[in-house]
Amino acid sequence: MADIIQLLPDHVANQIAAGEVVQRPASVVKELLENAIDANATIIKLLIKDAGKTLVQVIDNGVGMSVTDARLSFERHATSKIRSADDLFQLHTKGFRGEALASIAAIAHVELKSKQEHDDVGTQIVIEGSEVTSQEVIVTPKGTSIAVKNLFFNIPARRNFLKSNPVELRHIIDEFHRVALAHPNIEFVMYHNGSEVFNLPESNYRQRIVNIFGSKTNEKLVPVNEETEILKVSGFVGKPEYAKKTRGEQFFFVNQRFIKSAYLNHAINAAFEGLLKDGTHASYFLNLEVNPQTIDINIHPTKTEIKFDDEQTLYAILRASVKHSLGQFSIAPVLDFDRDSNLDTPYNYKDKNASFPTVEVDSTFNPFKEEKTMRSAVKTAFRKEPVASWESLYVGLESKGTKSPNDFSELQFESEEQTGDMFSDDKDAEAIQNTYQLHNKYIISNIKSGMLMINQHRAHQRVLYEDFLKQITIKESVSQQLLFPVEAHFSPEEVEIIKDVRDDLEHTGFVFSNFTKDVIEITGVPINVPASEVSLIFEQLIADIQNEVPESNFSATDLLAKSMAKSLAIKIGQSLTAKEQDHLVNSLFGCKEPNISPANKPTFITLSMDELDRKFV
Ligand code: ADP
Ligand code: MG
Repeated sequence: MADIIQLLPDHVANQIAAGEVVQRPASVVKELLENAIDANATIIKLLIKDAGKTLVQVIDNGVGMSVTDARLSFERHATSKIRSADDLFQLHTKGFRGEALASIAAIAHVELKSKQEHDDVGTQIVIEGSEVTSQEVIVTPKGTSIAVKNLFFNIPARRNFLKSNPVELRHIIDEFHRVALAHPNIEFVMYHNGSEVFNLPESNYRQRIVNIFGSKTNEKLVPVNEETEILKVSGFVGKPEYAKKTRGEQFFFVNQRFIKSAYLNHAINAAFEGLLKDGTHASYFLNLEVNPQTIDINIHPTKTEIKFDDEQTLYAILRASVKHSLGQFSIAPVLDFDRDSNLDTPYNYKDKNASFPTVEVDSTFNPFKEEKTMRSAVKTAFRKEPVASWESLYVGLESKGTKSPNDFSELQFESEEQTGDMFSDDKDAEAIQNTYQLHNKYIISNIKSGMLMINQHRAHQRVLYEDFLKQITIKESVSQQLLFPVEAHFSPEEVEIIKDVRDDLEHTGFVFSNFTKDVIEITGVPINVPASEVSLIFEQLIADIQNEVPESNFSATDLLAKSMAKSLAIKIGQSLTAKEQDHLVNSLFGCKEPNISPANKPTFITLSMDELDRKFV
């Protein structure tokens, strides 16, 4: 039989390699930015068109390339950064594989211009699908410009696989953030479709963070600095009260290289233990400096994972340094035996809504019953007191929900009703109330065949979701004008996200008066939405949009309605009056799809008499 094994031609090998290196436009951004940094640039410009699908261009003022190097740079395994395997353990550059430019050139139209400082003229090379179509001598400033056009032009399947522009742009911005945060001493500018998105002058680390994430960030940062023999930690963590629902602002850099590490992330969480509200994530911007010989960055082609020789020690040091910082800036409670702990205010107490004292009414109390019961009722009242005050400590912690100023009247209404109950006999009470709230979580109701158990939080989400959807689609909403405009602070990127869904938000009843780079000013809110909830709603919305992996059926309207319903739905643990319970049940069954929540979870279950009877055999 004839031999059948052949070596793959270079352009095929390059295309295959490209699949590993270039997943999306953001991968190109990362590779080009890193090359510019390795070339010792001090000013780097990133130009993007159509979320990188049409153009990704990086212009730097670095060392540039000679004619030969310019041509060689597109060859696979051509690198100026390492010469032998030993160099891998001494890496001081981002790149080392010599694969990026070859891979990119295999799947796009690339135009390179480069000149070294002491040369009079530079080189221009145009290369399309690994084929050099022109090479010329040109006049160009010192440094390198690489423009990557029509990414995946020769792999339609990959091109079709790209997500919507907002999603691809977000990936690009993520990469840009990572590189820009690792190098505050370099000036970065980014343009998208001709308009400037970021302008980051050379600065210190704190200023760089603030320039990226908005001026409000400054007050949120707690410095972390610790130096040991094996690890130097520097940077910032976010104060716990500013913790976000997204994991967005979590950055580890090891020797100025962005890395992901679930293990080290755990170390930070451990340091924050007990300080964060449920469902929120601490932000951090931490630079770790270790001896390059103790790490192996070679294990993953896109290089965000890393292997440490002694991970456990790093964990311990990291956790201790963050804990120490939080303690030093009196964010974490310090052990102090001389201090009366009653005098301590919980760290975010000032941000809580003031809550009305709870009134505990013993509904079994009947003054007309014999003395024995009376005495026990009095006892109960006494026993309840410490419980009530203990509970009141937690009031406000969980009620991010729709508690409105008329809670107080509802409360009175409830006790009034219960006072009334004291005098009526059991039969009447049954006739009035046909729902019952179980553990402030489920609403139980009679139905013909048996009983119905409704999850109050999910049911309310369904009701609100359908309401919002209707308002957005028929574009008829009612807003309430705010006496004082609400200012919500976000990062420029987050403001962009809100801007994207602005129209839909307006259809639900929001009125925006001003958008700046990092502040959104709101003068009107949908009816029934308390002004105090606005920031939370937006924060949730941003988190939801960021976490959404849009599929073909992605709809911003749907997402918005879901997100707002989630923020505003009555929470588990919220007690409801009989009237409210009744109203919720009725509204739920007025919905188009009452049986599932917007997240496709059951809103209620039924238990038939048969099933019940069977349990009693
Ligand atoms: P690597 O970065 O792993 O070496 P690349 O394919 O990204 O591989 O780049 C190949 C070579 O091209 C680099 O080693 C470098 O010598 C040269 N090069 C690439 N980009 C630039 C740039 N912006 N300025 C100067 N030289 C560059
Ligand atoms: Mg490179």
